[in-house]
Amino acid sequence: MMNRLRAVMAADMDNEARLMEVVHLIANTMVADVCSIYRRTDDDRLELIATEGLRVDAVHLTFLTIDEGLVGQIATTAQPFSVQDAPRHPSFSYRPETGEDPYSAFLGVPILRGGRVIGVLTVQNQTARHYKDDEIDSLQTIAMVLAEIVAVGDVGPEQTDAAREGRAVNLKGRALCDGLGMGKVRLHDPVIPAAKFFAKDSHVEAARLGQALSDLDASIDRMLSAEIGGLWGEPREVIEAYKLLASDPSWAEKLREGVRGGLSAEAAIDRLRREHRARFEKVKDPYLRERLHDLEDLDNRLLRILAGTEESHIGGNGGTAEPEVLVARRLGPAELLDYGKSGLVAIVLEEVATSSHAAIVARGLGIPTVGGISGLLTHVGRGDTMIVDGEDGMVHIRPDAVLRKAYNTRQILLSERQAAFQAQRGEPTETKDGVKLQLMLNAGLGLDMDYLQSTGADGIGLFRTEFQFLMSDILPKVGDQIALYKKVLDGADGRPVNFRTLDLGGDKMLPNLNDAREENPALGWRSIRFALDQPGLFRRQLRALIRAAAGRTLSVMFPMVTSAHEFRQAKALLMTEVAWSRDKGHDVPSDIKVGAMLETPAFAYALEDLAGEVDFVSIGTNDMLQFFHAADRMTPAVSDRYPFVSRPVMRFLRQVRETCSRLDIPVSICGEGAGRPLPALCLISLGFHALSMPAGGIGPVKRMIRSLDLSVFQPAFEGLLEHPEPALGNGVLELAHQQGIILADD
Ligand code: PEP
Ligand code: MG
Repeated sequence: MMNRLRAVMAADMDNEARLMEVVHLIANTMVADVCSIYRRTDDDRLELIATEGLRVDAVHLTFLTIDEGLVGQIATTAQPFSVQDAPRHPSFSYRPETGEDPYSAFLGVPILRGGRVIGVLTVQNQTARHYKDDEIDSLQTIAMVLAEIVAVGDVGPEQTDAAREGRAVNLKGRALCDGLGMGKVRLHDPVIPAAKFFAKDSHVEAARLGQALSDLDASIDRMLSAEIGGLWGEPREVIEAYKLLASDPSWAEKLREGVRGGLSAEAAIDRLRREHRARFEKVKDPYLRERLHDLEDLDNRLLRILAGTEESHIGGNGGTAEPEVLVARRLGPAELLDYGKSGLVAIVLEEVATSSHAAIVARGLGIPTVGGISGLLTHVGRGDTMIVDGEDGMVHIRPDAVLRKAYNTRQILLSERQAAFQAQRGEPTETKDGVKLQLMLNAGLGLDMDYLQSTGADGIGLFRTEFQFLMSDILPKVGDQIALYKKVLDGADGRPVNFRTLDLGGDKMLPNLNDAREENPALGWRSIRFALDQPGLFRRQLRALIRAAAGRTLSVMFPMVTSAHEFRQAKALLMTEVAWSRDKGHDVPSDIKVGAMLETPAFAYALEDLAGEVDFVSIGTNDMLQFFHAADRMTPAVSDRYPFVSRPVMRFLRQVRETCSRLDIPVSICGEGAGRPLPALCLISLGFHALSMPAGGIGPVKRMIRSLDLSVFQPAFEGLLEHPEPALGNGVLELAHQQGIILADD
């Protein structure tokens, strides 16, 4: 059958004739009285486009709605369906023009492409009969081959006119990781050309598949091994789950079956991939979606292994030095780790959540990334040139000469800037008038620890422990948590590390744990509230922190505390865990510092009650600003109502700083704003001498500090705070300019 199908596919004829040949061939081989093909039209109907057995004059005249009859049922469920006596089935829809009265038995399978049902292939018999599993299987295989003709030969999602004509397109997405990159598009989802569908020799194909499966196994083992893991255990469960899936005999057996049936190894995988994708598109449950995505990820991984050096190779770009921009619908964290840094200068994703695991890993790897561009794949083709700006979320596809030139200029400036930052790494973080400041890092992945070295930061001001939970599909075991925290402390090598306890909820949801829909998630069941209500989970984390810091200083802070009572509850749990560890004979930390994050205005007024109880306060300005201004940090439409450098914010922060000084509570700032020179200048002028920020902020902020004479700037800044005009940002810019303080590149 496959040989004959291959001959039909290769024959020189138009598609209409080819489809008629195919239905004839299928009907003959399957001893069916009828074989028909329906195509899904642009307006979501199902059009009869070829038939053997039904009336030929019904072709192109018979249309069904997308959910009409048994054919519609297959289109909407994306599943095969068979029945012995179709006319008696409640979903049967009778179309007299087709002359299908005498046929009882019915079997239909979806024609899938890119995760979408693009048609339905059916066979019918006069006598009531039962279609066997292997017949259903063969029909599915044929449907896969047919997909390419039904889709009229397009490869990948339908391209826009601009893409077909090679015109430039600029798209705006969501900036996920800073930086700028230009390179050739590399499509993450391998496309199998129709010519590669059939096996020339089934034995050779079976051997290729066998080899690829064992290479896959080995590659997953390598990822699990310490040298490549790099993430220090966080994604271990994800990879372990892959391993389980990869060694599932039914998955491999389905692939082998395809090859035995005459498909090439690639086509056998592609067939399963289409099924997985179609199921993925239908499933709403986040946990199941992740599982199906993992399966699709495995399919893709195996395809890349088969492509070997011919095309993209797993773990890199096959040694070619050409910079590449990875373009994908969506990307799992392990998939991204597969590519590693080699050759990738940027990543662009169609789908993405802010806390997307891939975005977290991209930041860890320092690859400029933009996400959330719907329809992205319709605008690009493999090999197109693309500029990705991870700072403003712009993506320029097939840029013209002017844009490329602008890119090159900016890239040179950025590299010069980078070199200058490197050069100042060993210099003291000190103002011109000798005020010493502390610049710390915000981190969340084992990978981030590399930045301590490269930026010369003074420590980790905020370690977001929830990232390990977000990276993993199952809750990280205490042992894995201990391993991560130990590595962080080892990596910090005596420099201070503030572990922020689990900050889940809000935009950081764990499927199956806190995915209840809320009206206002930012104001809802999140952060310390969530942790206190999940004492089992919270205490396990505290235990892990205590064990990891045995014999060293443990510095812990609780997120989004709103009252003294909450802080005391959380601290009591920590102390109970310390006592428990001691009772069990474990070593405990030599010193414990317990802090709180000030992220709500309410907590500013609770500090009075906590003198002597709280060891330090760190102001999380990302959350604090949204509550202060009542402007959601995730809603772009109100992003300009969220100013950092404004008099109300600065007066509030000044008050917090004064309260902390009076109560003798050390206070620092974490939150992204501390990593931008303009707000950082204001914060320093208010008397905040410890700032924690993303790695990219250290260089520019340090440069600003080294150009600042605080004794001159500070009084002028205080003066500005007392007057209503000009807008504070403008006033500070003006002052900085007059005093030669370097805030930006120009
Ligand atoms: C903050 O809110 O400022 C903060 C540092 O925490 P996160 O951004 O993780 O909510
Ligand atoms: Mg926060």
